[in-house]
Amino acid sequence: MERVNILGVKVDMVTINEAAAAIMDFFNEDRVHTVFTPNSEIIMAAYRDEEFGKMLNDADLLTADGIGVVYASKILKKPISERAAGYDIARKVLEKMNYTDHKLFLFGGKPGVAEKARENLKRDYPELEIVGVRNGYFTEEEEPRIVEEINRSGADIVFVCLGAPKQEKWINAHKNELNVRVAMGIGGSLDVFAGTAQRAPEFFCRFGLEWFYRLIKEPWRAKRMTDLPKFAATVMTKGRKFKQD
Ligand code: UDP
Repeated sequence: MERVNILGVKVDMVTINEAAAAIMDFFNEDRVHTVFTPNSEIIMAAYRDEEFGKMLNDADLLTADGIGVVYASKILKKPISERAAGYDIARKVLEKMNYTDHKLFLFGGKPGVAEKARENLKRDYPELEIVGVRNGYFTEEEEPRIVEEINRSGADIVFVCLGAPKQEKWINAHKNELNVRVAMGIGGSLDVFAGTAQRAPEFFCRFGLEWFYRLIKEPWRAKRMTDLPKFAATVMTKGRKFKQD
């Protein structure tokens, strides 16, 4: 898979369909594969924190979640053709998994959210086997129990939805203890599956304005979003210093 180096983060130049196909292939290989979907905030975090950047680059699949990342790839003359958000990739994977015996574990969100997500997903994908759920609020002492719960469930894939960068760090810390084949960090997607959060309407997505929609809906994000212009400026001024493959 071809990759574009955006401020040190090597993002796979894949579409939603290609990402889902790669994940289906991961099921055939007996080891844990990690999938992260960085947006511009996360790439800025990795730019500032080398260790976090290494964690991202160690992933088996890194997709561009956010229009900022897609634009950055164009500025760097290695254009990614579409935004491959975690939510969309997850939906495609579930569609495909519905016809296999691969099993899913849902981890994250406030108490009750994963249960509600399971209920809704069972309606959308009646053959899908969801073998466990667990909320995303826990102490450090509880972590080994959570890993055990996931392993005991016999899941092949776990959606880890703790928000970024918590989910990436959690997956990285536990990937050697997990028996799943795919661990995927997909942020607020469980809330969307559960219906406790909505995605931006099509109009906002089509024009690359999902960030604007979220800003109106969740104004407390404003501070986090100040990274978006910083990201654009950094890509324009320093982006070309990073070596492409
Ligand atoms: N969350 C969690 N545990 C935590 C912090 C957050 O399970 O300790 C969940 C939270 O309930 C929400 C998701 O993680 O469902 C974070 O969603 P957000 O939209 O903030 O993440 P993003 O997609 O922006 O990374």
